Amino acid sequence: MQPLIIKMHERDNVAIVANDGGLAAGTVLPSGLALADKVPQGHKVALVDLAAGAEVRRYDVVIGRAARAIAAGCWVHERLLEMPAARTLQGLPIATVRPPALPPLEGHSFEGYRNADGSVGTRNILAITTTVQCVAGVLDFALRRIEQELLPLFPNVDGVVALEHSYGCGVAIEAPGAEIPIRTLRNISRNPNFGGEVLVLSLGCEKLQPERLLPPGTFAIADARGGEAGLDVVCLQDEAHVGFMSMIDSIMARARAHLERLNARRRETCPASALVVGVQCGGSDAFSGVTANPAVGHCTDLLVRAGATVMFSEVTEVRDGIDQLTARASTPEVAAAMIAEMAWYDAYLDRGGVDRSANTTPGNKKGGLSNIVEKAMGSIVKSGSAPISGVLSPGQSLRERGIASGLVYAATPASDFICGTLQLAAGMNLHVFTTGRGTPYGLAEVPVIKVATRSDLARRWHDLMDVNAGRIADGQASIEEVGRELFQLMLDVASGRKKTWAEQWKLHNALVLFNPAPVT
Ligand code: CA
Repeated sequence: MQPLIIKMHERDNVAIVANDGGLAAGTVLPSGLALADKVPQGHKVALVDLAAGAEVRRYDVVIGRAARAIAAGCWVHERLLEMPAARTLQGLPIATVRPPALPPLEGHSFEGYRNADGSVGTRNILAITTTVQCVAGVLDFALRRIEQELLPLFPNVDGVVALEHSYGCGVAIEAPGAEIPIRTLRNISRNPNFGGEVLVLSLGCEKLQPERLLPPGTFAIADARGGEAGLDVVCLQDEAHVGFMSMIDSIMARARAHLERLNARRRETCPASALVVGVQCGGSDAFSGVTANPAVGHCTDLLVRAGATVMFSEVTEVRDGIDQLTARASTPEVAAAMIAEMAWYDAYLDRGGVDRSANTTPGNKKGGLSNIVEKAMGSIVKSGSAPISGVLSPGQSLRERGIASGLVYAATPASDFICGTLQLAAGMNLHVFTTGRGTPYGLAEVPVIKVATRSDLARRWHDLMDVNAGRIADGQASIEEVGRELFQLMLDVASGRKKTWAEQWKLHNALVLFNPAPVT
């Protein structure tokens, strides 16, 4: 491979090295510029002489100022960049961008499980909700028995999952912020992949009582079918339980009834508009914003054109681009909701004595991302170009906000597990995850399609990565080609025709609830 650098915008004064293994000092670039330093893959090289204090531009955005004079051809590493302050939330452009309406994309469908409330599942899973961590060991024991003894009797059911978490007791349940973990768990119980079959395992004495978690009227799927609207709870402290095995027998008997109903479900042809896709990134590098995230962004546009719902998230990874997002809001109300989420998160971080710069990891920096500004510019492109037509607060569902389609900003922390957990609560039925450094991330509740930003990662992790967007940097595929390939793969995975690598290996990360309130 010839020496190759990638510049994102004509006004940029740095570019990143694309070659595997980086480029040695003395390498002459196609432009004639000779490298003064060895520059690792994904890291930046100065294209012109930069004076001390000069603006360093990537994505046509100031990602920092030169801490000292940097000559053309030198490696611009993180210690040479001074990070700009976060943009204030005043005076932002509000709904100023009117992108030309994209033509509808028709004729695409997948085979899914229709629910009575209109939502569609991509998998047919029995989920057992827990009110408190205390029951987790008992549920794990019961789960192994269910998998061995019951699941073989119900071949149309894909699996059984325990909705385990660390919340439920020992928490300030009346504190401001406590509603976030509670509504998250409530809404996850109603994820489309669980077919409206809600089974709750409770200890008995916990603060988060079953009726508080799932008040009457929250069973939209079961209600609409008529009957079975009451809460189905197994309580371990129930006096009827004598001995551990009687608890296990109770859980198994209740599980069997739900499995019988789930087993009767069949896949039906559903329009692509029934997809609810959550996109996020983790283990990002400088290629995330060059290959995988732009390809996801193109796919996001295809999904929105097909009438689907796409959520992007991760507050600290969009905070530095808030002006781009408020400009793309479809209405002033949407922009105001986005600003409110940013302000809430600024205050949350401030209370903890940090700011959005606490986001970047050692791996991000090793991969060439100098700071959160540069990381955010690469992260935002997952959202494509459509207007942003809705906003969710952490733990809210699309249904409770009356959102049925379009591009949605679902405010979440950037933590992979917390973001995925909150997107599950929102109603996601398919998850797309981009990574540059590499992560084996997966969820038991929905299929996770993983997209590698670099061919080197895709080759080494050939049985973990579902799509190689590194071909874009290699010049073997365009952003649009990889985006269309991803769209088709989504329809295949949603239909159950294909399984993701994380599904094949059963790689399941824990649910992690976002609890900004105190524990006691
Ligand atoms: Ca993430």
